[in-house]
Parts: sequence; C-alpha cells; structure tokens
Amino acid sequence: MTSLWLASTPEITTDPFEPDARYDEVVVGAGLTGLTIALLFARAGRRVAVLESRSIGALATGKSTAKLSLLQSSQLQKIKAHTYQSVVQAYVDGNLAGQRWLLDYADSRGIAVQRRDAVSYAGTSEGVATVEREYRIAASAGLPVRLTDTTDLPFETFGAVVLPDQAQFDPLDILGALAADLRELGGVIIQGTRVIGVKAEKPARVRTSRGEVFGDHVLLTTGTPMLNRGLYFAKLSAKRSYAASYSLPADATLLPQGMYLSVDAPTRSVRTVPAKDGVTADAGAAGLAADTLIVGGNGHPVGREHDTQRLVDDLHEWTADHFPGAKPTHSWSAQDYETPHRVPFVGYLPRGRGRIYFASGYDKWGMTNAVQAALTLFGDITGDTPPWAKVLHHRVTLPAAIASGLGANAATGWWALKGWAGVLTGPATDDLPLPDEGQGFIARSGLRPTGTSTVDGRTCQVSAVCPHLGGVLTWNTAETSWDCPLHGSRFAPDGTLLEGPTTHDLRT
Ligand SMILES: Cc1cc2nc3c(=O)[nH]c(=O)nc-3n(C[C@H](O)[C@H](O)[C@H](O)COP(=O)(O)OP(=O)(O)OC[C@H]3O[C@@H](n4cnc5c(N)ncnc54)[C@H](O)[C@@H]3O)c2cc1C
Repeated sequence: MTSLWLASTPEITTDPFEPDARYDEVVVGAGLTGLTIALLFARAGRRVAVLESRSIGALATGKSTAKLSLLQSSQLQKIKAHTYQSVVQAYVDGNLAGQRWLLDYADSRGIAVQRRDAVSYAGTSEGVATVEREYRIAASAGLPVRLTDTTDLPFETFGAVVLPDQAQFDPLDILGALAADLRELGGVIIQGTRVIGVKAEKPARVRTSRGEVFGDHVLLTTGTPMLNRGLYFAKLSAKRSYAASYSLPADATLLPQGMYLSVDAPTRSVRTVPAKDGVTADAGAAGLAADTLIVGGNGHPVGREHDTQRLVDDLHEWTADHFPGAKPTHSWSAQDYETPHRVPFVGYLPRGRGRIYFASGYDKWGMTNAVQAALTLFGDITGDTPPWAKVLHHRVTLPAAIASGLGANAATGWWALKGWAGVLTGPATDDLPLPDEGQGFIARSGLRPTGTSTVDGRTCQVSAVCPHLGGVLTWNTAETSWDCPLHGSRFAPDGTLLEGPTTHDLRT
C-alpha cells in the first residue's frame, strides 16, 4: 500500500554512514518533525545528522492527507475537555506558528500550496452539537470561523464549521525541499540506519544498526519515542487509519473545493489534489478530471481490528456511492499517536541529562504540530522557548486526562491478556494448514506464540511476541503485517520491524 505522494516522488538520495562521527545535533527520524528541526539547527550553524531507519517520509508524513489547518475536526473541544482554556490558546498559537513557518517556507522555495477552506461537518444530526461546540471554542481562541448549513459535498450534511484560507500540499514536496536545504548547509541524512539505543553521556552516544555516532543533543522524532525512558509509549495510543486516491471522470461536476472532515462516525476526510504540470492534458485525453480525489477514514487502535481489508473496501464503497465513476489509484494506511489530553508531548526525555529530546502525539494533526514541535525544541535548546511552548510545557494534568490515560492502559492490559490466553488455549501450529495467500494466523509452538503467514507465495514463521513488551501480535490483512495491539509496533511477514516503539525485529 503506497501513498499517492510516495508513489509519484523520486527517491531522495542518502549520505554515507561514518562510524564514530561527531555531530552537534543527531536527529532520529526523517519525517516532517525531524527534517524541520534539522534545518533549523543547520541554519544556526550546527553540524547536523539525520538518521532514518527506512527512507525520508516513509511513515506518517509520506502517508498523510497533508491538510495544513487550524480547524482540526473537533480537536479543540477534545483538548478543552482535558485541560484549561490557556492551554487551548497556547495550542492554537503554537499551531499557527507552525502553519505560518511552513507556508513561508513553501513560498520561499516555490512549492505548490493550495489555499482552501477547512470544513468540519456533521454527517449525522447527532454531530450538530459537536460542530457548534467546535465553532465556539475556535472562535474563543481567535480563529475566524463561521457556521454554515450547506457544503459543496455531494451528500447530506447537517451543518458545518468553516475556517477559511487554510492550506494543502504534497508532503513529499516539502520533505524534498527540507532535505535539499539541509544538505546545502552541510547536514547529512543517512537512510537505512536504525537507532537502537542512546546513552546520555557527554557527548550522547547513539547506537545504530550500522555502528555508533555521537552528538551534543539527540532529538527523537520517530513518531513514538523508541526509548522507554519516561514510559511515554504507555501514555500514547497508536491509531491507524486509511486513505485512498481516486481518478474521476472528466465530467465529474461534484469535485468539492474545500478540505473536509466529519466530526462524527464514520470519520471521512475529503480533499482534492490538483494535477502537476503536464499531467492535466494527459488526464483530459484519457477522459479524466485533472484533479485527484483523496478520501480517508476508518481509523482504529493499531492491531485491534479483526479484518483491516474490510475497512479499505468500505472506504472504496463509500467513495463509489458518493463520487460516481471514482476509480482507486492508490490506497494506503498509516498511524499516528494520541496523548491522553490531545496536546502533543514535546520536550526533554527524563533521565536524558538534558541531552535527549523528543516530540510525539500529534493525533493526526502533525502538519502544523510537527513544525510547532520543531520550533519548540529548537527554542528549548537554544534558550529561546516561544511563549506558547512555555504554557504547553507547564500545563497541569487534570483528572479527565488521567482518567483517559488509565482507560487506555486498562484496554492495553486487556489486550495483553486476551492475546496470551487466546494462544495458550488455542491450537498448535503444526495442527493447522498453511495460510492462504495474504493470510496469517497465530498458534502455539510448545508454549510460544508463533505467527505463520503466506505473502507473495512465501510462507514465513516468526515469533508472534512483540520484542517491546511481550504483546501477542495480530495479523493485518490489508497490509500483510504483524501488528502489536499494545503499543503499535508493526512488522513485515518475515519479522522485519516496520515501525513503533520497539527497535528489534521479530525472531524467525
Ligand atoms: C492517515 C493519516 C492522515 C493524516 N493526515 C493529516 C493531515 O491531513 N493533516 C495533518 O496535520 N496531519 C495529518 N496526519 C498526521 C501527520 O501525518 C503526522 O502527525 C506527522 O506526519 C508526523 O510526523 P513525524 O515527523 O513526527 O513522524 P513520521 O513522519 O512518522 O516520521 C518518523 C520517522 O522516524 C523514523 N524512525 C522511527 N524509528 C526509528 C529508529 N529507531 N531509528 C531511525 N529512524 C526511525 C521512521 O522511519 C519515520 O520516517 C495524518 C496522519 C495519518 C496517519
């Protein structure tokens, strides 16, 4: 499942790994957070290395729907429910700073950005109250929102809140420019290099799959932090969701002009992508509209959905119903992390002696939040923390956020029990036939949970126990992967680590 952006962008080259090299800043992860913070430091004259286990934009950033918006579905009311108005205001101010930085950067680099209205709509009559609440909280934080009864979506809606003049783009355009600018300033981006551990010595010692490097500071911008210090993995919930792009017939008169997100279930995200130079004429000749449609939704906690392929099919069916003639061109999936109070975690990692920093928990609003996190960490390290970041750093955790965190951990505990109980009381691997193509199952080998899968004609057997904290994995039909329902680690059928808090492959 490759995203529209990753499928149409040439690969970005990698720099060589130099064992024992010494840098000022070592950034781990080449998504939007990592590359933005790397460029900020390189502009300040620091020697910067970005270490990336896969490739630039391989995870959430390259699979985002890339709406750069301050209206974020019903996010502000979720934050308000867990914290104070001052924190809501600081969140809005930080996201505005992130949005402004990215728009100025895109403008300075001539990157195509489309200005669009952001629309959070009610898909049911029950959603109306949520729309109105979001309107009130957004307005109280100074955002120029308005309420409307109508949208240009080709199906019934029940009212919406609109924030004009937001933006959308191709996230790989931004990552490509950040990478080029970083290199221009002497920074290096080393792909295919997994960070396995960091020792908070002076300088910090970074252990990778290819040897060690050293840095004054280490910035973990890995989606969820891959070090267990501070137990942040337990405070974050990993949520996976799906997106697909569609070509439409040339006579499609129903192409919506804004960026839409439902505030109620089923979640539907809708935006269009204008054709790049030269493609418009080809589309016309093929009887297709120049714009591509993107639809997203059907999110769920990682590893806790029985049949993920059904969720992809459901997205296609919904789109075919509402946009007649839509033909899928790409479909993909990605995950992001949610904090109990919906405000990202950004700052230093406990027991990191002020040398290890991290950012996580953007709750699928990382286009603005990744940049606010980068501005925050750059300010923290250079002694110039932005005022809104000071408020976010010092927010008080209210009982509602504690209750959310406890609820999430109770669910995690239940999944841990369910996984082990299911295997120990279930059949032995040898008693079961090999799985059909694209399928996988977990069974017992002795007392050990073993995952068996067949993908592209190859049958693999791996330990089905997550090396992070021992959760029993589940099979993801849509992406043919082993996923951990506890903290969101994911593995390829042969056990190779794909993402998540763990740093180890599965044993085969
Ligand atoms: C389906 C979906 C749609 C979304 N749509 C939107 C949207 O419209 N608007 C919006 O604002 N936000 C959106 N988001 C959220 C946004 O995409 C993310 O919050 C943001 O991209 C996160 O950026 P990041 O740089 O922190 O993480 P990532 O882009 O995930 O980058 C982390 C990088 O770290 C690397 N890494 C991990 N572990 C290691 C290791 N041990 N060693 C070395 N490298 C490592 C990974 O390979 C990866 O490249 C969406 C998210 C999803 C899932």
